[in-house]
Amino acid sequence: MESLNYYPKIKEIGNIINIWSRQTLTPVGKITIIKTLIISKLNHLFLTLPTPCNTTLKQLIHTLYSFIWENKPDKIKRKILCLEHKFGGLKMLDIEEYIKGLKLTWVRRLLKNNTKLKKLIESTENINIEDLVFLGPPNKCKNPFWKDVFKAWTEMQYKLKPKNEEEFLTMVFKIKKKFDWKKVHNMSFYTTKSSKLHWFQYRIVHRIIGTNEFLFKIKVKQSDKCTFCNEAIEDIEHIFWTCHKISDLWIELGDWIYNQTQILIPVNIDIILFGNLGYNGNDRIKNLIILLTKFYIYRTKLCENIVNFTGLKNYLKESLVLEKNLFFKRKPFHKANICWDPWLPILED
Ligand SMILES: [Zn+2]
Repeated sequence: MESLNYYPKIKEIGNIINIWSRQTLTPVGKITIIKTLIISKLNHLFLTLPTPCNTTLKQLIHTLYSFIWENKPDKIKRKILCLEHKFGGLKMLDIEEYIKGLKLTWVRRLLKNNTKLKKLIESTENINIEDLVFLGPPNKCKNPFWKDVFKAWTEMQYKLKPKNEEEFLTMVFKIKKKFDWKKVHNMSFYTTKSSKLHWFQYRIVHRIIGTNEFLFKIKVKQSDKCTFCNEAIEDIEHIFWTCHKISDLWIELGDWIYNQTQILIPVNIDIILFGNLGYNGNDRIKNLIILLTKFYIYRTKLCENIVNFTGLKNYLKESLVLEKNLFFKRKPFHKANICWDPWLPILED
């Protein structure tokens, strides 16, 4: 497949380079030629075929840099040449990152609800697309093209990871704050048996959740603005708390639960991100509701839909019934009953 598709294009690129090599151009001019006239020849292949093998890719990169430096050794390190001007680069295209970026656009296409494509992949690859986002990439995927797409998605998520917990806290709260990190890390495991929710919460705590702020930086999204309000930059704090569409949702949720159960769920940014870190009475179910609400918000964002309280309520009721049934299977009846009894009115509402 590679020789059929890529080789003729690489030959074409060789011809374009031959023509432009006759002109006197600076490396800056040549980089513009590469970005406008040359790479466009390959865009379609990068987008729709598996990434070419290392040898082909190296050959292509070698051809481009030989053009820039007129067949002489590189004068500037390649990594530096690819940086922004202010960091001493000339904004040369990082081909490997560029290919990954194109592959990532498929994730967005797949997450749009009920497309034919989604159904096709789910049946041929025997995977669930939601698992891709919420459980990480499937290893069992056979098709080399989708393997590339899922690999790019995982790599992108890990780029978000802060170096340590301190860095994470200063990123979120802009001030130093003390947390019981053991409790923070344990919260989701103590709250539910769902590995989907464990992985989701893990990515929040490790800050590897794909907000538009990050997706914009890596050029997957056209804008870093919030999916819901389109006003502020969508970072982790905004998407789960400060966005006015989201804070309204938390208020409605709190009112509904209080009216049905007379239980108060206090919310602030710490509790929303990390959970209510107590281990008493109703804390487990409070955390479950907070976790499920965050999951609903994130899932709605990925599908680029609008959040609304009825949608959240239905999602919560459906998920809580499942959680409750599982809990009753694991625990002695009287213990499970004490735990769930105060919450039954919201399931029956
Ligand atoms: Zn917003």
